[in-house]
Amino acid sequence: MIEWSEEQRMARDVIRKWVEAEIVPHVDALDSGEMTPYGIIKNLYKTFGLDEMARNRFDAAIAREQAIEDGKDPEAVKTVDGGGGDDMGMSQLVSIEICRHAAGIITAMGVTDLASGAIMSQGTIEQKQRWGLDLLTKDKVGAWAITEPGSGSDAFGGMKSTAKLNEDGTWTLNGSKTFITNGPHADTTVFICKQYDPDVEQRQRKIVTFVLDKGMAGFEQTKPLKKMGITASPTGQLFLSDCVVGPERLLGGGGGKSKKPGKKSDPKATFMAERVGVVGMSLGVVERCLELSTEYAKTRVQWDKPIGDYQLIQLKLANMEVARFNIQNMLFHYLECRSKGKTMTFAEASAMKLYSTQAAVQVADDAIQIFGGNGYMAEYRVEGLYRDARIMRIYAGTDEMQVRAIARDLLSR
Ligand SMILES: Cc1cc2nc3c(=O)[nH]c(=O)nc-3n(C[C@H](O)[C@H](O)[C@H](O)COP(=O)(O)OP(=O)(O)OC[C@H]3O[C@@H](n4cnc5c(N)ncnc54)[C@H](O)[C@@H]3O)c2cc1C
Repeated sequence: MIEWSEEQRMARDVIRKWVEAEIVPHVDALDSGEMTPYGIIKNLYKTFGLDEMARNRFDAAIAREQAIEDGKDPEAVKTVDGGGGDDMGMSQLVSIEICRHAAGIITAMGVTDLASGAIMSQGTIEQKQRWGLDLLTKDKVGAWAITEPGSGSDAFGGMKSTAKLNEDGTWTLNGSKTFITNGPHADTTVFICKQYDPDVEQRQRKIVTFVLDKGMAGFEQTKPLKKMGITASPTGQLFLSDCVVGPERLLGGGGGKSKKPGKKSDPKATFMAERVGVVGMSLGVVERCLELSTEYAKTRVQWDKPIGDYQLIQLKLANMEVARFNIQNMLFHYLECRSKGKTMTFAEASAMKLYSTQAAVQVADDAIQIFGGNGYMAEYRVEGLYRDARIMRIYAGTDEMQVRAIARDLLSR
């Protein structure tokens, strides 16, 4: 793949118009936290029929899974085509277009997808029907909680939250989570913790995952934390104190009445999806900074000349274009691999994330420099793009964690 197809370009134009009408007028309200992103996400899903596609795909997947459980041929199951297939290119285009203005919306949407992804990959049919579908259609908001005050990069090893199995088969959950996207508003939270076992050292204890509903006794979701950027996505803390839950909330453990146990989690697959997702987000920031900066360089006059005539400004614009070109090519490479059924390695996904996010931060910083004092003012938007870009080097694995993944791969050869 060397460019977007004609169909993708047409779709991009439609999405861009929609974003300009439905998101751009609300960027300030989203930035101040006056408005949450959830109405916009629902609007996006309804306008483009994404909710209906998700529902049809869900029904088809469940019908096939049920046929397998019942010992029937899953291929014989008649279903409505979900449409859209596995069009990762279209998802990336939506992400790029929205991140040109408010990357927090994609963060909020992406984390609801992480929650539904965990339920759909590890859950039983009952669990998928109870919690998965409403997250897939975005009728409900999801959170995915792994990070704790004492463990971020070392999320699995350092985790302290516990689930204790009671004699009656229920579980008692305790612990706290921090920096949880959608945490303040989530209807459904995927809570990852360790099974209490006094005979096993804390770091080695088994990871267990539960699905929690808003308002459950012993489960507190705090107000949004104040933060630097991606302000369109509320981020909060979660506190669990003696929260007693039934076995039907345990993922990957065959909870509920279903005969077939759910699958075990695959953290690497989740990390891969997160990393690649951030690449498209970086591209949205870079594209918008480049557009705004080029326009400004043509129109801002100093010493009777547009500042674009000065080589020091030209160098910044040229570096921005190199970054845009590189990130886009990395994304095309990923999309090409995917369309051919090839999986990129974890190190390759990490390399893409490391490069793209560092480049996005540098590009946004250069954009502010090109705008001078205006660049520091919210009205000119580049400062907002910088604030949005900065988190991309931290979440979905910090720069240092990407370096670690790449170096480990190189050194293991
Ligand atoms: C806005 C926002 C939204 C988030 N959303 C979610 C969410 O929805 N769900 C969720 O579970 N988490 C979420 N997170 C958490 C995020 O994934 C973590 O912040 C991130 O993984 C880093 O962990 P930490 O903040 O604890 O930093 P730490 O792990 O404490 O790292 C501090 C510094 O030390 C470095 N470091 C750590 N270990 C090493 C090492 N071995 N070698 C070299 N350097 C090292 C790090 O790279 C970093 O520079 C979110 C965070 C933010 C800020």
